[in-house]
Amino acid sequence: IIIAEEVHKWYGKFHVLQGVSLTVNRGEVVVLMGPSGSGKSTFIRTFNALEEYQQGKIIIDGITLSHDLRNIETIRREVGMVFQQFNLFPHLTVQQNITLAPTWVRRWNKAKSEELAMQLLERVGILEQAQKYPGQLSGGQQQRVAIARALAMQPKIMLFDEPTSALDPEMVREVLDVMRNLASDGMTMVVVTHEVGFAREVADRVILMDSGSLVESATPDAFFTNPKEERTRKFLSQIL
Ligand code: ATP
Ligand code: MG
Repeated sequence: IIIAEEVHKWYGKFHVLQGVSLTVNRGEVVVLMGPSGSGKSTFIRTFNALEEYQQGKIIIDGITLSHDLRNIETIRREVGMVFQQFNLFPHLTVQQNITLAPTWVRRWNKAKSEELAMQLLERVGILEQAQKYPGQLSGGQQQRVAIARALAMQPKIMLFDEPTSALDPEMVREVLDVMRNLASDGMTMVVVTHEVGFAREVADRVILMDSGSLVESATPDAFFTNPKEERTRKFLSQIL
């Protein structure tokens, strides 16, 4: 469902993606790890056209990512994204944050959008917070709203960029639980995270990225207990 072939990107002279290739199958959960500055965010942001790239090819669910705007709108609908900072609209209630996209993009009526919002809030376990404003919620609750908001577009793929890094430790689990449920419902997911427990339990594949290249891709068990590459071993010794 995601095919990236030899993707290159430069920021000025800086070669941030140095020919990265990755194929993700429908329903697969891929965890991407790697040192700060290795290009993880840049790489996954190319999948929903938040970042341009200069060479190579990216195909999302059969659609080649081009500079065609019409194309980009379709991709944004199919690929949901959740960031480290929740990016909720502070002046809108939780429910309004979620109904915004279905009403404007899908042109659903108010009742239908609100019903969907309530279903999604139940799915992420915060139905009772629907009428509050983001500022009245904990970080973990806000991140679950952000996940519900992304799901409101009924995407085929969900990208997560360090979704728990900004959270207090006691809130990490509730967000990972939501992600775990999403994975077992069959969602295709690419997750940048250093949560080893989550990667071991939920990922089909764990990939190490370093200096703009993919270094090693393996099952969680092989990746964490028997990595092939020296760079993976070094990275793991720093995070484990
Ligand atoms: P982190 O773990 O810290 O989030 P990352 O692996 O996600 O790191 P990226 O955010 O993809 O790394 O950044 C990769 C490199 O590209 C970094 O060296 C960063 O400084 C550089 N970079 C990112 N965005 C820009 C930009 N808009 N202009 C120039 N350089 C950038
Ligand atoms: Mg990043």
